[in-house]
Amino acid sequence: MKNAINLSIGMAHYDIPDELKEVAYKAIKEGKNKYSVTQGLPEVRDKVKEYLSRKYEIVTEEDEVLLTQGVAGGLLLAALNLVEDDDEVLVPNPYFKIYIHQTDQCSGKAVLYNTFPDFRLRVDELEKVRTDKTKVLIINSPQNPTGSVYTAEELKAAAEWAREHNIFVISDEIYDQFVYDVSHVSIKKFYPEGTLVVGGMSKTWGMPGWRCGYALAPQWLWERMMITQQWTFVCTPTPFQYVMKEALDFDMSNEIAKYKKKRDFVYNSLKDYYDCIKPEGAFYLFPELPEKFKNESQKFMKKVLEKELLIVPGSSFSPANTHIRISYAASDEDLDKGISILVDIAKNG
Ligand code: PMP
Repeated sequence: MKNAINLSIGMAHYDIPDELKEVAYKAIKEGKNKYSVTQGLPEVRDKVKEYLSRKYEIVTEEDEVLLTQGVAGGLLLAALNLVEDDDEVLVPNPYFKIYIHQTDQCSGKAVLYNTFPDFRLRVDELEKVRTDKTKVLIINSPQNPTGSVYTAEELKAAAEWAREHNIFVISDEIYDQFVYDVSHVSIKKFYPEGTLVVGGMSKTWGMPGWRCGYALAPQWLWERMMITQQWTFVCTPTPFQYVMKEALDFDMSNEIAKYKKKRDFVYNSLKDYYDCIKPEGAFYLFPELPEKFKNESQKFMKKVLEKELLIVPGSSFSPANTHIRISYAASDEDLDKGISILVDIAKNG
C-alpha cells in the first residue's frame, strides 16, 4: 500500500531532536567508535542513576546500572539469568509479546494474569495463577497495548504480594514519560531488593534505531547480566551512549503535551462508537471491536485494510481476540483520516 495511514506503529512519529543528533555526529567524528566497557561508560551510568533517582526515587545503595541494547536487550539479559527450565513467568494479559517469546527462549513458561476488562493490576488475579514454580512477575506501566498507568496503591499491593512469595519483579518502564494527568510510579519503590527496572531512549527521544536502553538491578543480578552482555551484545553502541547522557537531561515535555492532545482527540472521537478505557499513558488506545464485528476480528481487519488503514488486531496482544490496538503516534493529519475511517466502519459496517 503506497498511501496507507499507519496507526499500527509502536514508536514516536517525531525524529530525534537536532541537538542530540549533533552529539552523535561529534562522538563519531571524534572517533568514539570503539567498544566501550561492557556495563557502559561510567559517566552515562551515573546519569541514568541520577535520572531514575531524581524522577522516581528508586536507586538504592544495592543497585547498579547496566547500559543495554534497547529495552529488548535488557529484558533478554534478565530472562537469560532469571528463568530456567519450567520456571513460570507471570505476564499481563493483554501483553507486549516480547515477554512471551523471551520466556520461551529461556525454556520457561509464560503464564498470563488477567487485567481485563479495565486493564488494572489486581493482586487477586496474580494470586489465581501463582504456583510453586512462579519465579518472575512482569509489570509494564505505562502499558503497551492498553495505555494503563498503574497507581502507587496497585503497585504497592503487587510488590507486597511478590515479596511475600519470593517472586522477582521485572518492571518495563519504557513509556515512563508518556503519562497524561497522572504520574509514573515505579514498583521498585516498594520492593527495591526484588525488582529490576528496564527503560530506555527508544520512545521518548525518538531513537529506536539507536538501540539505547538501561537496566537498574540489584548488584547480584547486575553482575550476571553484565557477564551475559559480554558474551552476547558486548556493549550499547558507543557513540550513542554519549547521546544517552545528554538526552536524559533533554526536556521532551512539548512532545508529550502534543501526545496528550492526540490521546484526547482519538479517545473523544471514538468513545461513542467503540467501548474503550481512556488510556492514561503510552500512545495506544485498546478499544473493543464494535458491536457489528463482535467475534469477527478478521472481517473487521479486512474492512480496515480495504480502506488503507493499518492498525493491529488484538490477537497480537492476547488470546482474547476482542480488541484492536490503535497507535496515536502519528501526525494529526493521519490521525484525522484514520479515526474517520474507524468511525465510519463502526457506524456503517
Ligand atoms: N517494552 C515495551 C512495552 C515496548 O512497547 C517496546 C517497543 N515496542 C519495547 C519494550 C522495546 O523497546 P526497545 O526499542 O528499547 O528495545
